[in-house]
Amino acid sequence: MILDSIKTVAVLGAGTMGNGIAHVFARAGYNVILRDVQESFLQRGLGTIDKNLDREVKKGKLTEAEKPQVLARLKLVTDMAAIAPADFVVEAVPEKLEIKRAVLTEADKLLRPEVILSSNTSSIAITTLAAMTGRPDRFVGMHFMNPVPVMVLVEVIRALQTSDAAFNTTMELSKKLGKTPVAVNDAPGFVSNRVLMPLINEAAYAVMEGVATPEAVDAVMKLGMNHPMGPLELADFIGLDVCVDIMHVLLDGLGDPKYRACPLLKKYVSAGWLGRKSARGFYSYS
Ligand code: NAD
Repeated sequence: MILDSIKTVAVLGAGTMGNGIAHVFARAGYNVILRDVQESFLQRGLGTIDKNLDREVKKGKLTEAEKPQVLARLKLVTDMAAIAPADFVVEAVPEKLEIKRAVLTEADKLLRPEVILSSNTSSIAITTLAAMTGRPDRFVGMHFMNPVPVMVLVEVIRALQTSDAAFNTTMELSKKLGKTPVAVNDAPGFVSNRVLMPLINEAAYAVMEGVATPEAVDAVMKLGMNHPMGPLELADFIGLDVCVDIMHVLLDGLGDPKYRACPLLKKYVSAGWLGRKSARGFYSYS
């Protein structure tokens, strides 16, 4: 698919990532077909987009007059068949292989042959997802960061099968969104989680071994390394269950025991201390 012929983008899933991805495409002038399984999930996603657009208006990044134009470019659908006219697709459904398989194979059958299908997965191999479709050479990883409207990075991941044309189009499309794409080959955790998760895991070990308190570990990284957030605050934000799951992906995929999840992280997850979403993780949120 040639970059300039991409006018309509389908986003599959209107959750945390999907609504942010729909937001940035609509903001950049693309027509967006946002698909979720229930109308209430679509409305919740739309509510978040509306609130985030208001924030951009307040900051002077968007005018009052532009906001309704952005919203008018969004079409909310529950019927998968409605994605058929899309020129490019981003999948952002839950991080479960069987859910992704069902959604990707269904989408693959509906789309024109030249359309590129991409996935925002954090940890499933793009090569595996590509192989589930009838268009493995037109399959790419497009890994946005949370919150999508704010974070500039997109990791663009090349599966073993990805063609140069599909890869280059996805890189250029990311720039059209005002993002900075970074080219990465398919490997467990890509670059972002391959580097970030062992940092968080090591921070958890430092707490477990009594080297320092969570506050002290975070202070060292913020004040000493200029990280905007400490690793344990960030872990609470991401979700400790998600951190443990990604460590398992690194351990399984790379086989090196240095990637084993810290027992303290696993213990917190067993206790239901998942971070912000459960109001308790390394810190309490009440
Ligand atoms: P989420 O649970 O917030 O949203 C997923 C949405 O997909 C839900 O609204 C759900 O109803 C919907 N859905 C389920 N089945 C569907 C289907 N068949 N068709 C369409 N929609 C369907 O999840 P999320 O945090 O947005 O994560 C989505 C993807 O993005 C995952 O692969 C995740 O690994 C990845 N990711 C997440 C983050 C993050 O910080 N949350 C960051 C980068 C990448």
